[in-house]
Amino acid sequence: MKPTILVTGGAGYIGSHAVMALCDAGYRVVVLDNLTTGFAWAVDKRATLVEGAVDNVALVRRICAEYDVIGVMHFAGSIIVPESVENPLKYYANNTAASRALIAAVVACGVQHFIFSSTAATYGIPEEVPVKETTPLAPINPYGRSKLMTEWMLADVAAAHKFNYCALRYFNVAGADPHGRSGQSTAGATHLIKIAVEVATGKRNHVSIFGTDYATPDGTGVRDYIHVSDLATAHLRALEALFADPTRSHTLNCGYGKGYSVLEVLDAVRRVTNLEIKAEMAPRRAGDPDCLISDNREILARFPWVPEYDDLDMIVSHALAWERKLAARP
Ligand code: UDP
Repeated sequence: MKPTILVTGGAGYIGSHAVMALCDAGYRVVVLDNLTTGFAWAVDKRATLVEGAVDNVALVRRICAEYDVIGVMHFAGSIIVPESVENPLKYYANNTAASRALIAAVVACGVQHFIFSSTAATYGIPEEVPVKETTPLAPINPYGRSKLMTEWMLADVAAAHKFNYCALRYFNVAGADPHGRSGQSTAGATHLIKIAVEVATGKRNHVSIFGTDYATPDGTGVRDYIHVSDLATAHLRALEALFADPTRSHTLNCGYGKGYSVLEVLDAVRRVTNLEIKAEMAPRRAGDPDCLISDNREILARFPWVPEYDDLDMIVSHALAWERKLAARP
């Protein structure tokens, strides 16, 4: 058995996929999740679930000691951009302050490796596309700032302590486990592919296309959609890199390096489902950039990360399979 990794937010969408990847690779996994947006059933049965808060320092210290934790993957946090504008202090509490408490607790226990869920929102409306890691960081909402502040804390902690980290800046995460073990399950989805497959299963009537006058080839927003299972694997490669060279930390974009417009995504959903997915033009959503595509050369150069699901139709078909599974539940 490999050593133990503590996964915060392991009952959530991305976290539950990372837990499966860790378990599949033979790691012992302890999940810490308060189950406000995650689900106990989403946690791989091979992992141990502890229900609690990541800023409960005594609890984190107890877990680290009891399970001999050697690394952390920190997914827990709040992720809804408009909510972060309305309630910024929730984001600075759940993302920034909670991360500070977690980092302090694990450093005190001698844990030396930390992987952090960061976001392309740290770039705001980027100055250049594809977006490089060196593109200026200019988040335009509290969500992006709450995550960037955590990146800064990690950099400072790595400089001061025997500790290295990898912050992965996610682009648009979508899809579901190809084996149907997990997927995006939280109610009130705001993400395009999730919404489109909800239309396919009849949960919603139509997709609203938020803006058709963007500076993109067809006028709709362009994004770099990455399959959640490839993202989970990137975390595994990151962990191995942190073990291999404890003197080095990483901050890396995580995307496929190519973009699809809203109309292209809807076409993919129509192709995959063979259904007429009703779509209606709607005004722009505040703060949406025209185009967000990662430059992913750095992660490809540093880690032996080989994406397996870099295919929009496959992402959609896995998201659809999961949505059908959810819809069939009592
Ligand atoms: N979008 C849309 N209708 C929706 C949800 C999203 O047209 O119901 C667009 C959105 O404006 C953006 C893209 O789809 O151009 C991806 O949005 P999403 O919310 O999935 O992710 P974001 O890029 O905002 O993190």
